[in-house]
Amino acid sequence: MQIESNKVVSIHYKLTNDDGDILDSSEGQEPLTYLHGLGNIIPGLENALNDRIVGDKFTVTIAPAEGYGERDNEMVQSVPKNSFQGVDEILPGMQFQAQSPDGMQLVTVIDVDGDEVILDGNHPMAGITLTFDVEVTEIRDATTEELEHGHVHGPGGHHH
Ligand code: ZN
Repeated sequence: MQIESNKVVSIHYKLTNDDGDILDSSEGQEPLTYLHGLGNIIPGLENALNDRIVGDKFTVTIAPAEGYGERDNEMVQSVPKNSFQGVDEILPGMQFQAQSPDGMQLVTVIDVDGDEVILDGNHPMAGITLTFDVEVTEIRDATTEELEHGHVHGPGGHHH
């Protein structure tokens, strides 16, 4: 069986940046399991997985445009500290869910300046060239229910 749209795919992966720092890895954990062809993973990785078979191992380097996007400086904003109700202390590196026109968005505190908090709405991996070492561990047909939902159920997927 080859990887194509509507297959459920499991991979082990290691993600590194240009400096060789490990940003993420499935080592020692369950493999990442996703429904192929629907944009559930970044485009560059999904494209590189087309037509692969179980046991394939490969390395792919992905530019930001095919990864988590370029950094957008307009997504860095200053908001008053008093808009963080119920948070005792706001420190750089904290992350919050914020309501945006596109839905819920993860924002990261990059600085606190007096009564102002500087927030970055860019994805933490935006602007980074990503290198994935990948091993394909399983491929199966998606169930009708998984196709209707657009995501994987069971191990590594949604439980509901
Ligand atoms: Zn579902």
